[in-house]
Amino acid sequence: MAYNVTLIPGDGIGPEVTEATRRVLEATGVAFNWEVLNAGAGVLDRYDTPLPAHVLQSIRKNKVALKGPVTTPVGTGFRSVNVALRKELDLYACLRPCKLYPGIPSLFKDVDIVIVRENTEDLYAGIEFEEGSPEAGKLIRLIAETKGDKVKLDSGFSIKIISRTASRRIARFAFEYARAYKRRKVTAIHKANIMKFSDGLFLTIAREVAKEYPDIEFEDRLVDNMTMQLVKRPQQFDVVVTPNLYGDILSDLCAGLVGGLGVAPGANIGDELAVFEPTHGSAPKYTGQNKANPMGMMLSGVMMLHHLGEIRAAERLEKAIADVIAEGKNVTYDLKPSITNTEAVGTSQVADAVIEKLEKASNTYQN
Ligand code: NAD
Repeated sequence: MAYNVTLIPGDGIGPEVTEATRRVLEATGVAFNWEVLNAGAGVLDRYDTPLPAHVLQSIRKNKVALKGPVTTPVGTGFRSVNVALRKELDLYACLRPCKLYPGIPSLFKDVDIVIVRENTEDLYAGIEFEEGSPEAGKLIRLIAETKGDKVKLDSGFSIKIISRTASRRIARFAFEYARAYKRRKVTAIHKANIMKFSDGLFLTIAREVAKEYPDIEFEDRLVDNMTMQLVKRPQQFDVVVTPNLYGDILSDLCAGLVGGLGVAPGANIGDELAVFEPTHGSAPKYTGQNKANPMGMMLSGVMMLHHLGEIRAAERLEKAIADVIAEGKNVTYDLKPSITNTEAVGTSQVADAVIEKLEKASNTYQN
């Protein structure tokens, strides 16, 4: 049986890392019918939106998508395709494993953290009022009337929203994940001492949910303390559940602990649909140079195989990637001890090396 999967190559380095990933996934022997569709600036003129309806329809139909990064203009222009996709499809959980594979240059040992980031609300909800707009004026008057606070008239607003419902489902997701993958502890991240009605609510709900899972240890950390703990002793953390914005920042930090964005995979998961994509963005400066590390996207492919129930193929592909890393020969510039290393290979050569490992392993298995 072939799996129907929506494949969104993205832009910048997206098409190159996507192609490398498609090749290694096919080399596992699992069959796919790829429905290749584009999103982002490249389709804006044709469809008048960076996220055309047929892309969403395809994911709804296939239930699974593999996606490369898509550039978001800063400050002006269209809103993030990535954020819109997660919201439109209610992909409420963003799962970002940060695992240190032997051979990766790092200051640490034994890091294996899974970030579970709430994906639909917080400061990412997109509820914003532009400085000088009538709506911003209304909000300033409302704040003055209800709170007595004088907000500067030239202020812009991004509203932080945390709901009981979204907090409960992300906390449950984190504990269910911990149980399914035999993890020992969940840490909830917040700044509840300052933002009592938003982060405070998130923490209250996380504590309530923790009581339903007595087999899993629970603790919480203020986000500022968490950043310091992560760079001092990351081994103490296991599954980390967090509101959207802190999750965004902490997952890049954790990616840095385990070798950088080039090796950090991710998935956006809802009750029925799932979109797998690396943590990194489109790294425009490396576009078309066959330079970017495809392993973050390949490891997102490993997560997709797990999701599809292809556990053996997932384990084989992860091992092939880990073996290439451990050998240290066929890796991109970011995994070499010095970034000026002239022996670094390109994106497509990494795919060749992973495929060679897969083939070798399957020959050994057959013999
Ligand atoms: P980025 O992740 O694209 O790149 C930051 C730096 O990390 C790069 O300059 C590069 O040095 C390194 N890097 C990233 N991916 C790498 C890889 N695969 N191999 C080797 N090195 C890699 O972050 P950015 O520059 O902040 O964002 C660029 C664009 O990507 C922005 O428009 C942003 O909005 C978008 N973005 C998209 C997604 C997504 O599609 N899910 C996620 C993050 C950022």
